[in-house]
Amino acid sequence: MSYPSLENYEETAHFVLRWTNSSPDPRDNLPRRSVVSATGTFLETARSKLVALLGRPPYVPSGQEKLEVAFHNLPYWGQAYPPSGPIRFNAHKWRQASGIRQPTATHELFHKFQYAFGLRTRWPIPTSSAEWYTEGTAALAELVVCDTVSRPQKWSKLFRRPNISLLRTDYTALPFWAFLQTTLIMPDFTPMRSLLEQFEITGDLLTSVDAVLQQATNLSPEDRCLDRVFLRFCLARLGRESLWPRAVLKPDGSVVAPDLAREPRFLGVGVVTETRRSYQAYSARYHEYSLPADGLPRMASITVSDMQGSIGIVAHDTHSTQSEIRITTTNGTAASIPVTCTPNERLIVIVSGLGSDSTCSFAVQLT
Ligand SMILES: [Zn+2]
Repeated sequence: MSYPSLENYEETAHFVLRWTNSSPDPRDNLPRRSVVSATGTFLETARSKLVALLGRPPYVPSGQEKLEVAFHNLPYWGQAYPPSGPIRFNAHKWRQASGIRQPTATHELFHKFQYAFGLRTRWPIPTSSAEWYTEGTAALAELVVCDTVSRPQKWSKLFRRPNISLLRTDYTALPFWAFLQTTLIMPDFTPMRSLLEQFEITGDLLTSVDAVLQQATNLSPEDRCLDRVFLRFCLARLGRESLWPRAVLKPDGSVVAPDLAREPRFLGVGVVTETRRSYQAYSARYHEYSLPADGLPRMASITVSDMQGSIGIVAHDTHSTQSEIRITTTNGTAASIPVTCTPNERLIVIVSGLGSDSTCSFAVQLT
């Protein structure tokens, strides 16, 4: 792709922003300097917050003192690739939708921080299999800096489609990274910085995630692995406000409030209710059972059969808010939980594939 020449420039402490208003292609042009100045302010704000969080400056190509920023027509809203190039912003979109400027500027700048921790500089990794990390954590930077996502689906899709493997997502992995950033207590640094530092050492994503979880002082030793933490995330996703301490905003300032997809059933006494599904690695389905309303205390037990792979099961009672988390690789009773059969009570059975795609049948029975 060829880019227009950009005759105007403005400098801030750490950025040189270049733009044009005389390109033959009108989509390249930015008629108002104030839009550029505002973007410079967003970039400086994001830079200082992220330097404080991550402990080092973003990657600047050798021979340059400041990060170059270019406005023109672009197939995307922003682009930070390759490491040696400028941050590029879509001039047309920048004119049209002012609300995306701050989160998009933050997002693209965060990619330059990733490069400072070895991504695509020391470790050339394939983008497609790592987007849940590369794009997911760049989306987390948007929340960290301004509580706003440039596209609502970055926050909402993992609620609406929980049955998609986390490992096959992209920026839509955001709620998972937000959960780690909010929940894990680390001895020295935040989970986000730890993750970047571990990735810099190993160049391997899942190894890095495991190393970060090992450092979490508020997890029990048995909980310090992705399998268990993913199940805790699935449980936390039932009450979405705990994933991020403040409201997650759209570019227009309204709140992103997605509904979590559930599969509703009725659970009768003495009836074995059986379900067979496949579960992608690090995905989940929320099976929601309404109960007979006779007020009696009972036990709900979940028994798996015909299993391939390994399955995580979370049994959660909405009335007592009691939960049981179990991981199983064998057929048999996986979890039991006491329930009281009151009218609005629900038994939620979250079933998740863990390290690989899995299949199982499971039966729920009230006794
Ligand atoms: Zn990105």
